[in-house]
Amino acid sequence: MNIKRLILLFVPLIAFMPIMLRCTGKPAYGSFDEYPEYTGSDLGLTYMPEKSTFKVWSPAAEEVRLNLYDEGRGGEAAEVIDMKPGEQGTWETTVEGDLNGKFYTFQIMQEGEWLGETPGPWTKAVGVNGDRAAVIDMTTTDPEGWENDVRPPMKSFTDAVIYEVHMRDFTVHPSSGSAYPGKFLGLCESGTVSPDGLKTGLDHLKELGVTHIQILPSYDYGSIDETRLDENRYNWGYDPKNYNAVEGGYSTDPYTPATRIREMKEMVMRLHEAGFRVIMDVVYNHTYVGEESHLNLMVPGYFYRINEDGTWSNASGCGNETASERPMMRRYMIESASYWVKEFHIDGFRFDLMAIHDIETMRAIRAALDEIDPTISMHGEGWAAADSPLPAAQRALKENARQFAPIAVFSDDIRDAIRGNWVEGDKGGFVAANGFEESVKFGVVGATAHPQVDQTKIVHSKGAYAATAAQAINYASCHDDPCLLDKLKAVRPEATTDELIRMDKLAQTIVFTSQGVPFIFAGEEILRDKKGVHNSYQSPDSVNAIDWHNKKVYSDVFAYNQGLIAMRKAHPAFRMSDAEMIAESIRFADGAPANTVMFTIDGSAAGDEWSEIRVIYNGDSLPLTTRIDGTWEKACFDGKIGLDGLGSVTGEITVPATSAAVLFRK
Ligand code: CA
Repeated sequence: MNIKRLILLFVPLIAFMPIMLRCTGKPAYGSFDEYPEYTGSDLGLTYMPEKSTFKVWSPAAEEVRLNLYDEGRGGEAAEVIDMKPGEQGTWETTVEGDLNGKFYTFQIMQEGEWLGETPGPWTKAVGVNGDRAAVIDMTTTDPEGWENDVRPPMKSFTDAVIYEVHMRDFTVHPSSGSAYPGKFLGLCESGTVSPDGLKTGLDHLKELGVTHIQILPSYDYGSIDETRLDENRYNWGYDPKNYNAVEGGYSTDPYTPATRIREMKEMVMRLHEAGFRVIMDVVYNHTYVGEESHLNLMVPGYFYRINEDGTWSNASGCGNETASERPMMRRYMIESASYWVKEFHIDGFRFDLMAIHDIETMRAIRAALDEIDPTISMHGEGWAAADSPLPAAQRALKENARQFAPIAVFSDDIRDAIRGNWVEGDKGGFVAANGFEESVKFGVVGATAHPQVDQTKIVHSKGAYAATAAQAINYASCHDDPCLLDKLKAVRPEATTDELIRMDKLAQTIVFTSQGVPFIFAGEEILRDKKGVHNSYQSPDSVNAIDWHNKKVYSDVFAYNQGLIAMRKAHPAFRMSDAEMIAESIRFADGAPANTVMFTIDGSAAGDEWSEIRVIYNGDSLPLTTRIDGTWEKACFDGKIGLDGLGSVTGEITVPATSAAVLFRK
C-alpha cells in the first residue's frame, strides 16, 4: 500500500469536504457514493463497419485516452486518442473507418499520473493473454447453425442432474481419444472411445444421463500463459482477468480473438443439441490481481471493498473482494451474466463464494435473467473464504437463502454428513464412519423444514435454510478439496477396493435419492481420484485428468451411477420441490438403529407410478435386518439397480453392510 493509495482512500472519508470544480470543469467527488451511476448499456466498444465508438465509465479520472494497436501484443500504439468526458461519469470517442482486426486499451490519468493500460472491464474480445481488447464484428463469431440453437427444456430445477467438469480434466488424458484434448471442442466431440472401445466425452455424458454440464471457469483467467500452452500447465481458473471474454487456453488459437468465441459457442450449441444445459462458473467475487486489475485500472478503488484501516478486504482469500453493493459493480454483474446468456446461450450460473455478494445484487441478477428466461438456473456457494466488511445480514450466505430464493446454495451439510468434514482429512461421515444420521435426514428433505428432522443436530447449519428443495444442491464432492474416492481412502486407509466401492455407491445413492438438485464431480461415475491431492487447482494433468481406462475397470460403478440417474429421472417422488409436499410425503422410520436412515416416500403427491417408496441407507459395518409391512419390489439392492424390479421381498429385509436399498409398490 503506497502513500498515494492511502490518501486516495482516506480523502473520501472527510464527509464535510465540499464538492469543488477542478480547473478541468469536472467535479471532484467526496466519496465513491457520489460517483454518478451510468444508466446506459453501451460501455466498451460499439462496432460498426463505418466507425467504432468507445465509451468507458471513470468519474474521477482527470483524463482518459484510447490506445489503438495493430497487434494483440507487443509493438507501439499506432494511434493514441484523447477521450472526451460525457454524461454520468463516462468518457467517449468515435473513430471513423473500419477498425475490425485492431486492438485497443484504455488509460486513465489520476493524481496527474497515467495508470497502466487496460482493455477495460467491458471488453468482449481480447488478444492473447487478455491484455488488449480486440475490435471484432461479433456477428462473425457465430458457428453455423447458431440461429437455430435452442435451450433444452427444463420444468423444475429439481429435475436437473449437474455434472461439474473442467475442460482439461475431461479430454486431456490420451485414453479419452479426443482430437481436441483440453479444449472447448473436446467437450462437444462425438464418437470418441477409450482404448477399451467404451464411449468417452460427449457420448459418455449422454450414456450417463446427466442433464446439466457445469463448466469450471471459462471466462478469460490470468494464471495460464496463453503463449506457452505447449507446456501443458493446468489451473482451475478461479483467477478472473476479463469477465466478459473467453479463456484463450481452451481455444485452438488464443491469438485470433474471434476463434475462442466461436469455439465456445460451438461447444454450447453441440451440448444443447445433445440435450444438455450449460452452466457457467462465474467468479465475480474477486480478481486475479487487485491494484493492477482491469477493474481497478479503470476506476481505482471503486469496485473493491476496503477495510477501515485502509487495507484491501479479503473475503475471497485471494487478496481482494469486489463490492457488489456499489451500483456500478452491481450493474456490471447483472450485465455480464445477461451477456453470457444472450451472446453464448448459457443456461445457468454457479456463483463462486456467493456470500461475498450482497443479497440485493443476487436478486437483481435473478430478476434480469427472469426477463430473458426464468428457467435459467442460479446457484452458488453460500459462504466466503474469510470474513467480509459487508454485514452478514446483507450477504448471500446460506443461512439467508430464503431471502434470495429461488437461487440455490450448495449443501455442505449433506456433503460432510455423507463423506466427512472437508478440512479434517481423516474424519469420516455416514458412509465411512459412525453417526451423522440427522444430517443425512436433513439432506434427504433438501434442507427444508421437516417435523422429524432435529435442526439442532445438523453438521453445519442451525436450521432449514431452503424455502424449497430446489434451493439445495446435494453432493458428495466437487472439484474442491478431496474428491469422494480420495476422501474415503483417507478416512479408511485399510479399506479394500470392494469396500471403497460400497461406500462410494452408498454416498451417491444418498445424493440421488434426496430431494434437491443432485450434483456430481466429473469422473466420479467411473471412480476417478485426484491421487490424494486436495487443493489440486494447479496440479498437473497426472493428478487432475480423468483416466478413461476406469470406465472398463469400474464398469459396475458406472452402471450403478447410470441406474441412480435413470431412477431419479423416472420418478418424480425424488424430485419434489415444494417444502410442504416434502414434509407431508416423507416419513422417517422411528427408532432406526444407529448408522442407518430409513424413510418412506408417499409418491401420490408427486404423481409417481410408485405409490410408495421405501429407502434404507445402511451406513453400518454390519448387515441391517428390519421388518417391512407386506410385500415390496426391490429397485436398488446391494449395489445393483433394476428399475423394473430385482425381485420382491416380504415381511423382512436384510440390507447388507454399507449399502442402500430402494423398495417400491405400484
Ligand atoms: Ca487467459
